Order: sequence, then C-alpha cells, then structure tokens
Amino acid sequence: MCLADSPKAADTPAATIHGKLILRENQTPAIEGADHKLIVLKGDGSTEHVLHDKRLAGLDVEVTGHVVAPGILEVDPFYTHAVRVIKDGKHLIVTYWCDVCSIRQFEPGPCWCCQRETKLDLRDPDAQ
Ligand SMILES: [Zn+2]
Repeated sequence: MCLADSPKAADTPAATIHGKLILRENQTPAIEGADHKLIVLKGDGSTEHVLHDKRLAGLDVEVTGHVVAPGILEVDPFYTHAVRVIKDGKHLIVTYWCDVCSIRQFEPGPCWCCQRETKLDLRDPDAQ
C-alpha cells in the first residue's frame, strides 16, 4: 500500500468568507460581504442552530467552508468552530455560558443542567 497516495480530489475549494451576518425572518442565514452580495450559509444542525441565534445578527463574522453553488457556502462541521465572530481584530469562538452551573455550551438554548437560558459568551481561543 502506498502511503504517498495522491490526496483525494477536493470536490470544491475551501473558502473563508467574512462579512456581516444577516438574519431575516424565515430565511436561511447569510453573510453580506464587502461587495454587498449575500452568501447563503448551509451547515449541519448545530451550525445552523448557532447561525439562527439573533444575538449574532449584524455582527462581523468569519465562516470557513466550501462553496457548493454560486452564492452558497456549506459551512465546515460544527466541531471545527467554523463560525467565528470578529471583534477588535480578534477571532472569537461562539460559546454559551450558564452562570449558575459554570457550564459552557457551544449551542444556544437552555443550560443542559439547570435549564436556564444560557448567555452568549464570545471567547478568544488564545486568551487564558
Ligand atoms: Zn445551568
């Protein structure tokens, strides 16, 4: 078996897009880039759950994925933290924090422990 086998041909090139997250009622989340074109974001269930969080609407975000059709980006799997918020030049990971239990979640919604609504907490992955 040859370990130096040529890499499997990529279906579509990887892309990182950056712009304002646009959330409209009953519409798929999208990013508005510098050219004001909307790029619709598709993703797995957890990714879409985060992208539908109204608290993220209008924020400057960066998303990594693959362009699957003109104007449509398939976001990389949720565990890769493919959705980041850009603030003061920093790339922040989207997390949700429960003050009561000191539990961090990566999806919006009630705390899995006490069922209270978690608070959006954007984290700098480099800060400790
Ligand atoms: Zn809790």
